[in-house]
Amino acid sequence: MDTTLDRRALFIDGEWTKPHTETTVEVIEAATETVLGTSALATVADIDSAVAAARRALPAWRALSPAERAEYLDRFAAALRARAKATAALASRENGMPIALSINVNGYAPSLMVGYYANAVRGTERDEVRPSAFGGRTVVRRDPVGVVAAITPWNYPQSLAAMKLAPALAAGCTVVLKPAPETALDAYVFADAALEAGLPPGVLNVVVGGREAGAHLVEHPGVDKVAFTGSTAAGKAIGEVCGRLLRPVTLELGGKSASIVTADADLEVFAANLLEVSLVNNGQTCHAGTRILAPRSRYAEVVEAVTETVRNLRIGDPLDRETQIGPLVSAAQRERVLGFVESGRWDGYRVTTGGGTPADRPTGWYVEPTVFEGVHNAARIAQEEIFGPVLTITPYDGEEDAIEMANDSRYGLGGTVWTTDEERGLAIAGRIESGTVGVNHYQLDLDAPFGGVKDSGLGRELGPEGLAPYYTAKSVYFGTR
Ligand code: NAD
Repeated sequence: MDTTLDRRALFIDGEWTKPHTETTVEVIEAATETVLGTSALATVADIDSAVAAARRALPAWRALSPAERAEYLDRFAAALRARAKATAALASRENGMPIALSINVNGYAPSLMVGYYANAVRGTERDEVRPSAFGGRTVVRRDPVGVVAAITPWNYPQSLAAMKLAPALAAGCTVVLKPAPETALDAYVFADAALEAGLPPGVLNVVVGGREAGAHLVEHPGVDKVAFTGSTAAGKAIGEVCGRLLRPVTLELGGKSASIVTADADLEVFAANLLEVSLVNNGQTCHAGTRILAPRSRYAEVVEAVTETVRNLRIGDPLDRETQIGPLVSAAQRERVLGFVESGRWDGYRVTTGGGTPADRPTGWYVEPTVFEGVHNAARIAQEEIFGPVLTITPYDGEEDAIEMANDSRYGLGGTVWTTDEERGLAIAGRIESGTVGVNHYQLDLDAPFGGVKDSGLGRELGPEGLAPYYTAKSVYFGTR
């Protein structure tokens, strides 16, 4: 078997380390339902070893100047970039993401993020001298927060890991990355790149493990900060533990974002963006705008535009560049999504396209992209995160009604406004209870904070805001004599 698909060692202390037990996990290819590869699975003893390695590495790593760390990170970014195409294909095979998307978000985004944070710290000073209001001065020192536990899900495995480890390493923290077992194999690319870049041993550790390993990592006494992306249920459990321990935590959780089509919207623009905004990654996207709100005056037009666009999407092999919708990550995920489709039908809502599994794709965990219309905003399919290619369309009467419906959700992560009047778009975006909103598109940006409010999480990643949580401030007061 190709060695890159057979990873029976964990990456701890700069070395491939045999786990304490022989337990492994098989990664199943989403499109073929066959075994793609095998990964070691960390137990709590392996997590202990990884945290110990990260602690040992911390003093020397934090003592480097930001410019010295940036040099290491530049080499790390180059090593990731050199692997971009292979990484993108591997992640697509693991989770079904169309390769045209994967090449950017799994292939090139991690090296861009590492490079971005290398540049963000290069040239910065550790100490800032501030004149005291009472005479004398204060030296305000930025120290790295310490050992970071980074826990990530399977849907955007590479970029969600890089959003954590790039700022953490740049700030002078050391990292234990615990990726999801479903996408274990691509995570080891970070280890390969760390070795090639010569990152000092223990600065970055990669330990694939399940829920128990993750929970052990979160409450480990050797961990100083937790950065988590995943479900709201797991995020709340992690937040409770961190609250008890007074341990800083960033939580990027679920979503059920609204796409508000205004009465003056250009429906061609909306339809052209629908795949990227509402069905991106086969709908397995936390910020997807899956709840479409349409003005009653143009309701029929919106239903037709959405239905026609979705009906014409190309379902296929995720490795084919023409594919727009690939399979879901697992059989369990497909069952879950089909269960939501059933619940929508049971509640009496009309399916305008899709609604099942594609007849010509008997193998692979495919679900047809599906549209429900006439959906009440309180319906289960309009309130719960489906995490599959299922859209709902709900009519509204007037702008206030639309904003009220957009905000009538436990989540607040993404959202979009479709209008030919950008000022109006900004005004509406400003009233949506959400961490991020797109006007006539939706695109995360390296330099802009990403994160949620309400049940979508706590804290921000990306941009300068995504670096700040990896520092802690120390004030050293100086007397006047
Ligand atoms: P999940 O919460 O089940 O698992 C995510 C990760 O956490 C995995 O590595 C898992 O092993 C680990 N884990 C689970 N329970 C844990 C616990 N109690 N303690 C420590 N670690 C634990 O999520 P999933 O099903 O893999 O991913 C899908 C979810 O992620 C969706 O809800 C989606 O919206 C969310 N998500 C959010 C964002 C965001 O940025 N807001 C991005 C992508 C995905």
